[in-house]
Amino acid sequence: MTSTGLEAAAAARHNPPMEPARYWTAEPGGRLRCTLCPRDCRLGEGQAGFCFVRQNVGGRMVSLAYGRSTGFAVDPIEKKPLNHFYPGTPVLSFGTAGCNLGCRFCQNWDISKARLADRRSGEYTAAEVVRLAVEAGCPSIAFTYNDPVIWAEWAVDVAREAHARGLKTVFVTAGYVGEEAREEVFAHMDAANVDLKAFTEEFYHRFTLAHLAPVLETLAWLARTQVWTEVTNLMIPGLNDEPAETRALSEWILEHMGPEVPLHFTAFHPDFKLRDRPPTPPETLSRARAVALEVGLRHVYTGNVHDRAGQTTRCPGCGAALIERDWFAIRACRLEGDRCAACGLRLAGRFGGPVELTPGRRTVLGIV
Ligand code: SF4
Repeated sequence: MTSTGLEAAAAARHNPPMEPARYWTAEPGGRLRCTLCPRDCRLGEGQAGFCFVRQNVGGRMVSLAYGRSTGFAVDPIEKKPLNHFYPGTPVLSFGTAGCNLGCRFCQNWDISKARLADRRSGEYTAAEVVRLAVEAGCPSIAFTYNDPVIWAEWAVDVAREAHARGLKTVFVTAGYVGEEAREEVFAHMDAANVDLKAFTEEFYHRFTLAHLAPVLETLAWLARTQVWTEVTNLMIPGLNDEPAETRALSEWILEHMGPEVPLHFTAFHPDFKLRDRPPTPPETLSRARAVALEVGLRHVYTGNVHDRAGQTTRCPGCGAALIERDWFAIRACRLEGDRCAACGLRLAGRFGGPVELTPGRRTVLGIV
């Protein structure tokens, strides 16, 4: 490229075009109705939605997050968390700003509650993101940190490019997404982790400003697709950690998704608007895990704590320890391909070559 060409490219990066968004309809009176998620925002001229990143500009919806990233990191895939999707591999992870939920306990609030203008972010093409993943030795890319539902078009374009280069794609989400977008987005994803924040409408209403039913719909729908899906339940002391609720949640997963869907109970730390609650005691996670196993789920894990027993994958046939973990590190593996080395039973999930023992560390690349 000539120096003039480089300058033009650099200038373009400082004035990125506002990408036309999908998933909206025009309403009488000039408002635009966003159908991307069940929040159903109706936006007058110049207004942005609850998520901050979709805006009515001149009677057309635009995505302010398209082509943006607030930074990149190479994470262990176990950090998404995904324990049955190419374990031990690194995943290039990135997100934008904003969110379509309003969780009082958000553990990533500096990103999710930020407007793009307040948050340092870079502009990228899909090819540049994929090249970064390849150069970092990542066989997959994760759309994560804030909810990628709100930047669906950008995630899909990166996913298309990733698949063209032989990489896998991972969608880390709260599952609060409209029907049309759900079909189109997940057609380009290989795996998902869905954060099921609680199992009561009251919790969703009071602490997330959203609703439970659409999330359950997404989960039941995912279970009928080829997308490898794992579920996370962040346990907050006194708010969603009652064994009866855990039992009901586990029974629902068993009935609507099946016994092989991995379920992660993860520890909360006081943050954002919920600082009056203590961190989750490890015993709470172990108790929840015992309840879910008793219900009949086969792969139940604890997270955000050191708990080798609660983080090890066991063969549902003979009980052999197949993948021994400590937090995100992999300490031992007795898996041959996708089968238990002891009894030969096939383990549910997606597996490639031999699982490597890894320290499970993340590398922050920042804005590159
Ligand atoms: S994606 Fe954003 S603008 Fe659209 S309905 Fe959801 S919160 Fe509102």
